[in-house]
Amino acid sequence: MNNERKNTLRKEIKRKRESLSLEEKNLLSKKIISNFLNEDILKNSKTIMSYMSFKNEVETKELNNFIKSQGKTLILPRIINNEIVPIKDEGNFFSGVFGVTEPIGEIFKEKIDLIIVPGIVFNNLGDRIGFGKGYYDRFLSNPLYNDSFKISLVYSFQIDNSFSGDIFDKKVNKLITEKEIIEIL
Ligand code: ADP
Ligand code: MG
Repeated sequence: MNNERKNTLRKEIKRKRESLSLEEKNLLSKKIISNFLNEDILKNSKTIMSYMSFKNEVETKELNNFIKSQGKTLILPRIINNEIVPIKDEGNFFSGVFGVTEPIGEIFKEKIDLIIVPGIVFNNLGDRIGFGKGYYDRFLSNPLYNDSFKISLVYSFQIDNSFSGDIFDKKVNKLITEKEIIEIL
């Protein structure tokens, strides 16, 4: 069953990501972020939703600083009442549950040009496996974000075509890895 496949893959790839050394993570992250910086969609977007990477996710710190330095509006997610809430970055944070850094600021209620979607496994059709709680699926199902360009920053080992997305799984439009850029049509 696809659900079992998703669960197995989620665990497998998560383990693989957790086993990266700090050096490997930094090296690959640098390459992935530099590939992303060449993308027109990044240059042309004024409001960008990113996230604070944690554990061994592709490091987003420098990217987030770059977005701000370009005078763009940076939006970061915060979980409130089990939902993702888009917060306008004002440089204020607190250390929430599990020590995850969360932004403090106003809720951003407008459209967002570009959304960087985190995840654990992706396929070539843009389907995504997250942490298993469907947070981003629910967030992206808001019609306000229908036109947002969705992109994910991933290590190439996070791409696997042996699963398919469910109807409620929201697709991304592009995948950026250290090796290639996958455009989803
Ligand atoms: P993830 O995307 O984090 O890997 P799943 O895709 O398995 O997790 O989704 C987790 C749960 O979230 C599923 O049981 C699914 O029914 C629920 N879910 C996903 N999208 C929605 C939505 N738009 N509205 C309500 N529930 C949703
Ligand atoms: Mg999902």
